[in-house]
Amino acid sequence: MVIAIRALAARVLRRPFRAPPEAPGGATRIAVPHLEIHITHECNLTCDGCLYYTNHRHTGTIPIEELRTALAKWSRRVVPKSFAILGGEPCLHRDLTDIVYLAREQWPEPATKMEVVTNGLLLHVHPELPKALSATKTGLYISVHSTAAISPRYHEMMVRPLDLARRWEKEYGIELEIAEQSDWYRGYKGHGPDVEPFEDGDSQKSWDNCVTGQQCFQISEGRVWKCAPLAYLGLQARAFALSEKWQPYLDYRALEPECTDAELAAFFEKTAEPVCGMCPSNPQPFTKGDPLLPLTFYKTTPT
Ligand code: SF4
Ligand code: SF4
Repeated sequence: MVIAIRALAARVLRRPFRAPPEAPGGATRIAVPHLEIHITHECNLTCDGCLYYTNHRHTGTIPIEELRTALAKWSRRVVPKSFAILGGEPCLHRDLTDIVYLAREQWPEPATKMEVVTNGLLLHVHPELPKALSATKTGLYISVHSTAAISPRYHEMMVRPLDLARRWEKEYGIELEIAEQSDWYRGYKGHGPDVEPFEDGDSQKSWDNCVTGQQCFQISEGRVWKCAPLAYLGLQARAFALSEKWQPYLDYRALEPECTDAELAAFFEKTAEPVCGMCPSNPQPFTKGDPLLPLTFYKTTPT
């Protein structure tokens, strides 16, 4: 999920592309800076403050046919400059390799930089993945979620996956990026049923300091969402009896693929919106604890 955090807060570049011949009505596609897709809501780590709420132990893996339908609809409307396959932990999806091919089929343009974003721990269960990454020119981005000083056990567990990834890089010529993600910003308060939005009352400032880097557009449930914290808030609401303070944010309406060209362009040009008020206006950096901590730790320890 970390990819959005490192995204630059640049303005949306909107350039028309010629629609593919099969696009109904010869609609014009627009270029957008970034798109992501959660292929599973499950994760094998419990990173404190995960902005995709995955550390709250949600379940649900999106069937590949559902992903195909969603991507096919959106590939007729937009061409992302970058596209990330992630989760949750994408290696928990048994069809990850096929999803890599699927994504590139939808956006064959070299202008679209593809990547799989993973914590890397389960790379070994996808032996065909490096071939797919190489054939589709899809990069591999590995987030390292803690340091040896904070979690010696996690550090030890990462040795083999990182060795494997470096071997794939050499043998298959894939683009590999390994980034430490032990410091980040909290986008909500509390954990589980006690989770609360920020109430700083300055949505413009929250947007200016957006914890996901302003370009964290998600394809989820067939629609495009402004960012991950909005897209997956529904998972939280289904799992917990959330405070009523979340209702305005749960009422957010994502963009439907059948939208008009004008609606599409307007969506990607939006900047601050009232929903940004759920995020901190002055986010404070913190160093995450051990990503192997059990959920019971967060249930009993206020964050
Ligand atoms: S690895 Fe950590 S940050 Fe990434 S989805 Fe899992 S809990 Fe969230
Ligand atoms: S709600 Fe607004 S400020 Fe918060 S993460 Fe989403 S885009 Fe950024």
